[in-house]
Amino acid sequence: MSLGVAPSASRPRIASVDELLESQALGSVVARHGRVPVRDALREHLDVLRAEWGSAPASAFEPATLALDIGRALDQAAAPSLRPVANLTGTVLHTNLGRALLPEEAIEAMARVAREPCNLEFDMDGGARGERDAHVQAQVCQLTGADAALVVNNNAAAVMLVLNTLATRRSVIVSRGELVEIGGQFRVPDIMTRAGARLHEVGTTNRTHLRDYAEAIDPRTALLMKVHPSNYEIRGFTASVPMEQVANLARDRGLPSFADLGSGTLVDLRAWHLPHEPTVRETLAAGMDLVSFSGDKLLGGPQCGIVAGRADLIARLRRNPLKRALRCDKLTLAALGEVLRLYGDPERLVARLPTLRLLARPRADIARVAAELADALQARLGDRASARVVDCASTIGSGALPVAGLPSAGVRIEASGSRRERDRQAARLLVALRALPLPVIGRLEEGGVLLDCRCLEDVAPVLRSLEALRVDAAPASKKELAPHP
Ligand SMILES: *Cc1c(COP(=O)(O)O)cnc(C)c1O
Repeated sequence: MSLGVAPSASRPRIASVDELLESQALGSVVARHGRVPVRDALREHLDVLRAEWGSAPASAFEPATLALDIGRALDQAAAPSLRPVANLTGTVLHTNLGRALLPEEAIEAMARVAREPCNLEFDMDGGARGERDAHVQAQVCQLTGADAALVVNNNAAAVMLVLNTLATRRSVIVSRGELVEIGGQFRVPDIMTRAGARLHEVGTTNRTHLRDYAEAIDPRTALLMKVHPSNYEIRGFTASVPMEQVANLARDRGLPSFADLGSGTLVDLRAWHLPHEPTVRETLAAGMDLVSFSGDKLLGGPQCGIVAGRADLIARLRRNPLKRALRCDKLTLAALGEVLRLYGDPERLVARLPTLRLLARPRADIARVAAELADALQARLGDRASARVVDCASTIGSGALPVAGLPSAGVRIEASGSRRERDRQAARLLVALRALPLPVIGRLEEGGVLLDCRCLEDVAPVLRSLEALRVDAAPASKKELAPHP
């Protein structure tokens, strides 16, 4: 039997869905996606074609055409929603682009425990139930000087757990200058309320003194808290109380103290000529009883939140049923263990930990990649726009050192014409770059597109992807930039 269009019929005879499924033409589509999805897609597609009976060309019913159309639709639907992009934003720890990139060791460790059973909560010596955080606790303690540590889903969860455990129905003293909104719904006052604690603000936005804390302490006080201001900086006539003084005051009054460090780093970044961020060790050494920090910010590991500090307080956090709800999974713990292991060898850390490597990357190295990218872009753009290497400033991101920029290099693409025209073309180019097979994420800057090359270590995949960037001669004299359909 022949499939498809019957030559004599005025209306083509359409092969049945079952016939089509058996046909050679659809064989590879069935092999890729399975019989049931192809059958359903065929039915739906044929229904649409029949509805358009008058307008659909007979060729649309041919098995080869159906295979192409159905195959394309199913391929598209099967493409993962979450996919790699090229981060040319200049923000190294970009929350919307997934923050820290993991070292290979961590990726391999995740794959191992994903593939096979592991001793996640199994005490190999006694054969009894074990504690999942035990796999990383000793490492955290060694790297920070803490007595104990635990790990939860992220730093927001860590803050929540600390407040809920130590301060339910009681008050927490925080400086007004530290009541920050980090973004993505994390606002210190809101977390406080949800954790069941009462916020007791002291001082003013720009200045808070030790006496403000001291005078605020009353019988309802449960905790003195310091919050890293993260994504903003107060300048000018300012005063904040150092960790050490808050910690001492808390100890004198028999209260615990807690610092939410946000990005908390384990190493002194000055060793790599980066601006100093308070380390977890320094904060604990200043006397804070508990410190919380993110795993996927400056630490450069998987998403998680770590609380480190006094053993008796950590034990209380562990007993809180919320800990069960906020705990992190075996993949995270496997990756975190490997990342922490890298910290044990500080001399090779910068070469092995992607976050630090990108932050400390020499400008000359970035400029070399920028030059390659600029050449490729210029070749694609022709005389429609200029692409040239420029100096620019990257940011760390995720709240660390919001104001200081890291000297970097990038490609600036600028169309010609009036300012308005340049803005319009820049916006279009940004969209076109995002639509590439490997989406390139840049940023608009003063009438042009800026592609900061700090995070572009391997330029080849981007160059390959750029081949799909098409510069259209626009219908009405205007030259437009568009991605391939
Ligand atoms: C980023 C940040 C948080 C939230 O951490 P996540 O790991 O993103 O949940 C909390 N507090 C501060 C000060 C931060 O900078």
